[in-house]
Amino acid sequence: MRKRRKTTEDQLIRERIHLSARLSEVAPQVKRIEINLQFADDGDIAFQRPRLDAQICGPQSASVFYFKCDNRECVHGGHDISAAIWNAINERGPDARGEHVCDGWQDRERVGQYRCLCRLRYVADVTYFDPT
Ligand SMILES: [Zn+2]
Repeated sequence: MRKRRKTTEDQLIRERIHLSARLSEVAPQVKRIEINLQFADDGDIAFQRPRLDAQICGPQSASVFYFKCDNRECVHGGHDISAAIWNAINERGPDARGEHVCDGWQDRERVGQYRCLCRLRYVADVTYFDPT
C-alpha cells in the first residue's frame, strides 16, 4: 500500500487554501463555479483513460484553486489554476478552460533531472448572481 507522503509542502498548501479569502469576500458576484478536471500523464494517449474529477465551489469556498498532481510520487508539483479562473471572474466570463502542466519532479530520485509533466485539463464554468 502506497500513500502520498505528508510533506511540509502539502501542509503549506493546505494552509494557504484554508487561510485564503472566501469567494464571497473577494468575488461576491460569484454564485457557483463548477470545475471539471481531467488528469493525465505526459502524452496524449493517456487522456483516453484519464482520471476525472469535478468540484463545485460556492461563496464559502476558498479563492485559491489548487489541485494536487495525479502522480503520487511527484515532488514540488501540483496545479494552481487560480490565475485562469480569476481572469474569467474579473471579466465576468462564463468559463475558464485550458491545460496545466505540472512543473514538479517525477519522483524523489529524479529531482533536478526529470520533470513530472503530468497534465490537467480543466473547464471551470462560472455562474454569477444577477446584478441588483
Ligand atoms: Zn506532478
